[in-house]
Amino acid sequence: MNNEKRASILIIYTGGTIGMIRNSVTGALESFNFDHLVRHVPELRQFNLNISSRAFSPPIDSSDMNPSLWSRIVEMIHTNYDKFDGFVILHGTDTMAFTASALSFMLEGLMKPVILTGSQLPIGVLRTDGKENLLAAIEMAAAKNDDGSPVVPEVCIYFHQKLMRGNRCTKTSADSFNAFSSPNCPCLATAGMEIQYNRHIIRPYDAQVKLAPKYKMSSDIIIFSLFPGIQPNIVKKILSGKELKGIIFRTFGAGNAPQAHWLVEALTNATSEGKVIVNITQCSTGSVKMRLYETGLQLLDAGIISGRDMTVEAALTKMMFLLGQELPVDEVRKLMKKDLAGEISCK
Ligand code: ASP
Repeated sequence: MNNEKRASILIIYTGGTIGMIRNSVTGALESFNFDHLVRHVPELRQFNLNISSRAFSPPIDSSDMNPSLWSRIVEMIHTNYDKFDGFVILHGTDTMAFTASALSFMLEGLMKPVILTGSQLPIGVLRTDGKENLLAAIEMAAAKNDDGSPVVPEVCIYFHQKLMRGNRCTKTSADSFNAFSSPNCPCLATAGMEIQYNRHIIRPYDAQVKLAPKYKMSSDIIIFSLFPGIQPNIVKKILSGKELKGIIFRTFGAGNAPQAHWLVEALTNATSEGKVIVNITQCSTGSVKMRLYETGLQLLDAGIISGRDMTVEAALTKMMFLLGQELPVDEVRKLMKKDLAGEISCK
C-alpha cells in the first residue's frame, strides 16, 4: 500500500458526551481521555487513512466552551493545516453550533474540511450514536474530488446522517439522536447506504485562497429576547450599558417589536452611541423582513440591522468576530449584513 497517497486526517478531541464515562459515585457523566474513545472504535483501523489526534487536556463539557478555547482550536488547525487533508473535531453537542459558527469566521480562507461531531450517548454505551457519527465524519473529511480537491472545503457539523454547514446549524433536540437542524439551508450531504453530496450547495474550492486565521473575538455583547410585557426600566438599563458594544436582538416573526415609544427611543439611543444591533427572529425558520410591517420599519429607522436568516449562533459569533477585529462601527454594520462564510442565504 502506498502511504503517500493516503489522505491524512487530524482528530481534535475537545470533550463532550462522546468520550464521557459515568462516575460510579455520583452517576453523572464526566469527560474522559481520547484513548478510551479510540478503544471503543476499533473500526478506525480499517480506514485507508493516516489518522492522528490532538486532545484538550483535560477534555471539557461543551458548556465550558469559550472564545479562548475557540482560538486554541483555530491554532491547532492553523499549525497543522499543511500536514492534513481534513480535520474532525469531537465536541459536546450543547454548544457545538456556536463553535462551528465561530470557526467558520475565524478560519478565514479555509479550503479544507473541518467537521465537528459528537454524540448523544457515550461511545462506550451499546446503542451509542457516536460511532457512526465519528466514522462518517472522518470519511467526509477525507473525501476528495477526481482532481484531488476536497469535496467539502468548509466548516460543517455531521450528525445523525446529515452533513450541515456549521454556521447554519442549531441544536434542536436535547435527547433525540437527530439533535441538529439546519433550518434555512439544505444539508451538504446525507449518509445512507452511500454518501450523497449536494455539490451545488457546498462552498466552491479555490486553490488560490490561503488560510488567514483570526484569533480575536469580543464578548462585549448580549442576546436580548423580546416578550409581551417586557419592562422599560430593565431594557433601558441593559441597552445603555457602557461596556456593551453589540446586541443580538431577538424579535417576533419577520423581525417585529412592540410599537412602544420607550423601546424605540432606547434602541435609537443605543445605535447612536455606536452599539451594533442586529435583528434576528425568534422563529426557527424564515427570515427577518423589517419592511413588511410598521412594527419592523420602526426598528430600521432606529438604526437596527437585519440579520436576515442567520441563526442566533451565527449572528452572535459573527458579531464577536467583527468587533474583535476592531473595525470602525460602520464597517462592522456593513459586514454584519454581508454573507461572509455562507451564513446568510443570498437572494
Ligand atoms: N453536556 C454535553 C456537552 O455538550 C452534551 C453532549 O456532548 O452532547 O459537552
